[in-house]
Amino acid sequence: MTTAFTQLGLRPQLAQTVAELGYVAPTPIQSAVIPIMLTGQDVIGQAQTGTGKTAAFSLPILQNLDPTRARVQAIVVTPTRELARQVAQAMHRYGAAQQVRVLPIYGGQPYARQLRRLSQGVDIVVGTPGRLLDLIHQQALDLSRITTLVLDEADEMLSMGFIEDIEAIFEVTPATRQTALFSATLPKPIRQLAERYMNRPQSFGMARSHLAVEAIEQRHYLVNQRDKLAALTRLFEIEPITRALVFARTRAGAGALANELTRRGFPAEALHGDMGQQSRERVLRRFRENRITVLVATDVAARGLDIDDISHVFNYDLPQDPEVYVHRIGRTGRAGKTGVAITLLTPKEQWRLRRIEGMMKTRIARVPLPTEEDIRQHREAQLLAEVAVWLRRGRAKRERELVEALLAEGHDLMDIAAVTLKMARKEEKRRPIAAIAPTPDEQPAAWPTGHARRALEKGWKGS
Ligand code: AMP
Repeated sequence: MTTAFTQLGLRPQLAQTVAELGYVAPTPIQSAVIPIMLTGQDVIGQAQTGTGKTAAFSLPILQNLDPTRARVQAIVVTPTRELARQVAQAMHRYGAAQQVRVLPIYGGQPYARQLRRLSQGVDIVVGTPGRLLDLIHQQALDLSRITTLVLDEADEMLSMGFIEDIEAIFEVTPATRQTALFSATLPKPIRQLAERYMNRPQSFGMARSHLAVEAIEQRHYLVNQRDKLAALTRLFEIEPITRALVFARTRAGAGALANELTRRGFPAEALHGDMGQQSRERVLRRFRENRITVLVATDVAARGLDIDDISHVFNYDLPQDPEVYVHRIGRTGRAGKTGVAITLLTPKEQWRLRRIEGMMKTRIARVPLPTEEDIRQHREAQLLAEVAVWLRRGRAKRERELVEALLAEGHDLMDIAAVTLKMARKEEKRRPIAAIAPTPDEQPAAWPTGHARRALEKGWKGS
């Protein structure tokens, strides 16, 4: 069997496994990293989640495993428990045919189980720095003979303060090991780490302007700060959202926004930095299982969040740093799908958006907000589409009898149908469309103030 994956040097069995998972062709980072890692060289990959980096380092590790050895052969260090778990799951899947033994290790889990698994024999360990070090110090985890060490999302580990832990982990591994480092950005401390611990690494970076943004439709809406919630609500009505991630600046902001959205009929939960691990995992599970469609998160809380199939990323607040913007929107448009990234921008922040556009060398188009009339029309179109589906299904025998009874009472068929539709729309009443004031550049030159303005604003609320 010849596939693009075998051409990278992968064994047919691994190529077959990924083919069964539906991977038709390697992603750019896989094409670059797999051949390098198969030869045992060090590699630095500048890549975000969603680029296929997990498979890029996992497949060569699996191929290079020595089935006759009983010790840990490779270790992957990740910033968060979730990522550790996800990487371990992915490796387990990729290595199913060779019955690979992968152990995720992170804090919050009982030690006993981890110790038992370690003593039974493990090929690959995936874990967070703190707990890995704990087990190393307890001499339960011996990394002195590993062949490969991977740092995943190194910049996240840096910003979470794990650099010293990582150095300590490096120190207990053999100097002959292969090291692979993945990071969305390469700030100086990460480059220094690479210089100190890596052996003439091959670098693979995606040009910033290519950071998967082709798959992402980026738009912005200009809106006054106080109308942001109303604007977001309108967009939620119109956009074909399957899963949305909304970024808010503060923890409190995230919580309040999630509540407001829920109240408006869009079930949302907040994910913020000082949540306990259990509640965090519960929220993420609900999101993953599609029991909630909307997650409102701060940047800190969204670290290590690795969920595919996010159809929309909303910047409720524009981040200060252009790189954070790129990082945020990279949560959508992943794994060959397209995504939408929407930014709510206040007039004062326009220059900041320009900076982001400059850095990314793309335009982030300004689009007018849906008007109240747009929303009404959209609601009606949806209602009619739903009716059409039920008409096609045609299974309304009992209801036809009810209609006949109403006709027998002398009602008009047209009236019955219209009233029934009205009843079907009753819950719309619970979702009033809030008015949105124009931004300064949309306002007429002599903008009325005080009473006249309030009267005008009332007028916009429409019927
Ligand atoms: P990652 O960047 O490792 O988090 O991967 C993002 C997603 O892309 C995961 O759901 C992978 O299963 C998927 N994926 C990885 N490689 C490929 C590929 N070559 N073709 C299609 N999907 C892939």
